[in-house]
Amino acid sequence: MASIFTKIINGEIPCYKIAEDDNYFAFLDINPLAKGHTLVIPKKEVDYLFDLDDNTLKGIIVFAKKVAGAIQKSMPCQRIGVAVLGLEVPHAHMHLVPLQTEADINFSNPKLKLSGEEMAAIAEKIRTELKQKQ
Ligand code: 5GP
Repeated sequence: MASIFTKIINGEIPCYKIAEDDNYFAFLDINPLAKGHTLVIPKKEVDYLFDLDDNTLKGIIVFAKKVAGAIQKSMPCQRIGVAVLGLEVPHAHMHLVPLQTEADINFSNPKLKLSGEEMAAIAEKIRTELKQKQ
């Protein structure tokens, strides 16, 4: 059965999309630790990040770099933290989390409750930054 993230890639489940190319996809985490918390995934459905083939693994960092740059310009933060957990969804993904302090990337923190309008506005802001880089 397709993972929830494959369904998002295929448009079967809605998301606040940030970016996409032939091999990767980025979208806002539905339960964000911070405004702009984004997931970056390979389109190839592999459970564990370090089981990706070398080229896909190298490429996801380069793709995430572009997305992280746009998040950093859009959201007030010191830098973008990166985390890999994968304990919930068996489709490899990197979390990109805007950080003010180390505590902002504690996954035990309560998640933000943002409205659909706020999520859409955040995604739009990050997408606009990404377009300006191209
Ligand atoms: P992990 O597998 O890294 O432990 O956690 C999975 C992450 O995916 C969580 O932060 C969770 O909020 C996010 N997530 C789970 N299901 C969905 C979904 O349907 N849409 C979005 N945008 N994020 C999801």
